[in-house]
Amino acid sequence: MKIRNCLNPSKPSFSFEFFPPKTDAGVASLLRTVEELAPLEPGFVSVTYGAGGSTRDRTVELVTHIKKQSGIEAMAHLTCVGHTRDELRDVLRRLDAAGIENVLLLRGDPPQGQTKFEPVPGGFRYAEELVRFVREEDFNFCIGGACYPEGHVETASREDDLQHLKAKVDAGMDFVVTQLFFDNAFYFDFVERARRVGINVPIVPGIMPITNYEQVQRFTRMCGATVPMRLALQMERVKDQPDAVVQLGVAHATVQCMELLARGVPGIHFYTLNKSPATRMIVGALKGRS
Ligand code: FAD
Repeated sequence: MKIRNCLNPSKPSFSFEFFPPKTDAGVASLLRTVEELAPLEPGFVSVTYGAGGSTRDRTVELVTHIKKQSGIEAMAHLTCVGHTRDELRDVLRRLDAAGIENVLLLRGDPPQGQTKFEPVPGGFRYAEELVRFVREEDFNFCIGGACYPEGHVETASREDDLQHLKAKVDAGMDFVVTQLFFDNAFYFDFVERARRVGINVPIVPGIMPITNYEQVQRFTRMCGATVPMRLALQMERVKDQPDAVVQLGVAHATVQCMELLARGVPGIHFYTLNKSPATRMIVGALKGRS
């Protein structure tokens, strides 16, 4: 199934994002998480692409396994980092041969220790180039990409970032998924600005339930997402009580999702961090199953 066909505001889909674990034990635990989340009938799940090393093969293996074993549509992320176009073609061929129909194409972050992204010789500088490459080659993938309601961390201005997104979408993207955000106002404003410049593909909000105080601080530092003052103060107050942090994170994300659904989003993508409880609670509540 092509994901673009399940992104529909009249029947929004929930989707879950995982990362490829480094160890076999981690893989076994992730597959349990997938099993625990399966009863929520996700429209699709996705597996991120690592910065390098063995987890990259795991992305291909995991999406193949999940799709075959559980029947859930599984999308592979793929980045330009460290890859020549021949290597990228090879990964795409493996995905295609395994029956994977959807890919999320990204540039990726600069490797550790580098502040500026530099493509390898024969590689790509921007996600847009990778999208164009996949469209020009003999592939039939449904293509997703990333977008940034608060602006990408490297961009000089949100306006530039939006123009780059437009070029990326025009190169052949079917839908985009947002970076995580904790304040829906950023999403609604972004969608309005995107539509104004002619970006017409579905824009799926990405939601990360906060389950750990330090983790959310690390993520927001990395991706530049704003934590609303009230939520930050509430978190600060309960930061030494892990259960209270989870409850607060779940409550905040549930309210965010309710508003997003009420205003007609085509789906909601959850950054699960390979854990099921928080996502299960939120989606269970949204589906009236809690
Ligand atoms: P691009 O769209 O190429 O943009 C990168 C930067 O370049 C932006 O600042 C943009 O404004 C600028 N730019 C784009 N085109 C031009 C141009 N023509 N001229 C000048 N500037 C330009 N990372 C991973 O490593 N693995 C993953 O699996 C992964 N999954 C992700 C999933 C989602 C939903 C999101 C939101 C992010 C994900 N990331 C992942 C992180 C992502 O790789 C980083 O945010 C990365 O820094 C940017 O990738 P991109 O595809 O958005 O890049």
